[in-house]
Amino acid sequence: MDVLTIVIPCFNEQEVLPETVKEIGNILTSLIKNRKIDRRSKILFVNDGSTDNTWNLISKYSKTYYYVAGIKFTKNYGHQNALIAGMTAAVRYSDMIITIDADLQDDVNAIPKMVKKYYEGFDVVYGVRNSRQTDTFFKRKTALTFYKLMRKLGVNLVPNSADYRLLSKRATDSLLAFKERNLFLRGMVPLIGYKSAKVFYARKERYAGKSKYPLNKMIHFALDGITSFSIAPIHLILYLGIVTVIISVMCMIYTIIEKVAGHVVSGWSSLMISIWLLGGVQLISISVIGEYIGKIFSEVKRRPRFNIEEETYTKKMENTSDK
Ligand code: UDP
Ligand code: MG
Repeated sequence: MDVLTIVIPCFNEQEVLPETVKEIGNILTSLIKNRKIDRRSKILFVNDGSTDNTWNLISKYSKTYYYVAGIKFTKNYGHQNALIAGMTAAVRYSDMIITIDADLQDDVNAIPKMVKKYYEGFDVVYGVRNSRQTDTFFKRKTALTFYKLMRKLGVNLVPNSADYRLLSKRATDSLLAFKERNLFLRGMVPLIGYKSAKVFYARKERYAGKSKYPLNKMIHFALDGITSFSIAPIHLILYLGIVTVIISVMCMIYTIIEKVAGHVVSGWSSLMISIWLLGGVQLISISVIGEYIGKIFSEVKRRPRFNIEEETYTKKMENTSDK
């Protein structure tokens, strides 16, 4: 039987954690009982620099339940880095890894279905929401626009799937071979290839606590996704330049006509407009290029993606026998 590890990033999740352990623990233990997965299978919490009681809870559960373990970051490194850390630790001992949010918005009953798909031979199983009724109108709309925009920019995403998915050991290894610092995992997974399947579920309300992705973080994440995966914005500058040149040629013709007609001083408005227009276009273009240079800057530094202060996972996995 194969070992499953469920990786759960947590940032200030003390309100939901007791329920998360209960629900996901139930799923895991019943899979073990039904001999679907090995009994060394675990829930691996990654505490992403929480400032509340989250880590205390995780280490308590880690002592109480044989199937719970935790990793504690030294500070907040972000959701995507927490996923990478969890997968990096888990891949050594697991045959399959499921990543899921701590807030129980994603239906945990999809987990056995994902495992089933894994045994059918799929290396990647996406959790796909078939309804977003519980999301606000605004979130639904912006998410949809984002997926459409990404497609236009040539980035292949599985619509309505986020970071709820199963990856086999070799798929995880392939994903971890991507060494970039600007992480956008949902865009990276389709790039590793492998046979993939989808499991559909209805997205629920957050069980408790507040969203850790306020609007500004969401916009940042979306922009990161675009500039990490597509150089279309740089191409757009080319079109912007071409349009500007066409406009300036028209301005030139107009200027010559005015000159011939003898209204020489009347060119003030067109001059003002041109200066501001060109200035604006240039600033936009420089900032777009700057965005990419910033990306290169942060990539070439090759800084570590996270730092671990404490963890209870390795010891647990080394201690339990192979039988
Ligand atoms: N999260 C994290 N680090 C962060 C922000 C979020 O580990 O800096 C975790 C959070 O605890 C949760 C998951 O990422 O398990 C998704 O966050 P959330 O549910 O708040 O996002 P939303 O569903 O509102 O997009
Ligand atoms: Mg959520």
